[in-house]
Amino acid sequence: MMNDTCERVVEVTPDAHAMELTVWGVPSTIVAGERFAVSVGAKCSAGCDLAGRELTLFDQQGLCAGTVKLGHDVCAGTEALYFAQVEVSAPLEASSHSWEAKIAGWAAELPHTDGSFPLTVRVVPAPDYVITVKVFDREKQTPLAGARVVMHPYRAVTDDDGIAKIKVAKGQYDILVSRSIYLPTCVGAEVNANMMTTVELDVDQPWVPPDEDSE
Ligand SMILES: [Zn+2]
Repeated sequence: MMNDTCERVVEVTPDAHAMELTVWGVPSTIVAGERFAVSVGAKCSAGCDLAGRELTLFDQQGLCAGTVKLGHDVCAGTEALYFAQVEVSAPLEASSHSWEAKIAGWAAELPHTDGSFPLTVRVVPAPDYVITVKVFDREKQTPLAGARVVMHPYRAVTDDDGIAKIKVAKGQYDILVSRSIYLPTCVGAEVNANMMTTVELDVDQPWVPPDEDSE
């Protein structure tokens, strides 16, 4: 019969620290083939110093898109989130690509697990044309600043003159214009040249007056 002391004699192998990865600052859309930067960060469950550890971005095919070494400072407001910026090239194919940031674990000193974090790289075709959209208040005929103009996946906001310039690829688009207190408006456009268009917005009426002619 083993006594209590014997039962407690086991080889002590410390549990590997868990690695937690994060990615931020991915542009909402990226032009095909262009360089872009994202921020990557890693944190150890026990708060180890990760400065100099290498982190890799893998593209949808699992190929290395870029590597970076974590910096020596931790992210402001966090206890041990080491971070770096990595610059990579967008794929040439315009679509939504599933990428992954990964850090390989290590066994030396204190063992650490692998870590990974997914990111979506939304690639749009290189724009060929400039579309100038002028947005007006229909009733007052005054330009409207701060209106959102979307020609999916491209977008812009109107300036003080009510003008938004959007670079887009050739194709068929819906130009969606919206602004607070106005009714959103959508117009179709076939783009095969630089063009200019005017969109007039009506104030959104929360209450519709009764028809005065009905009595
Ligand atoms: Zn650790």
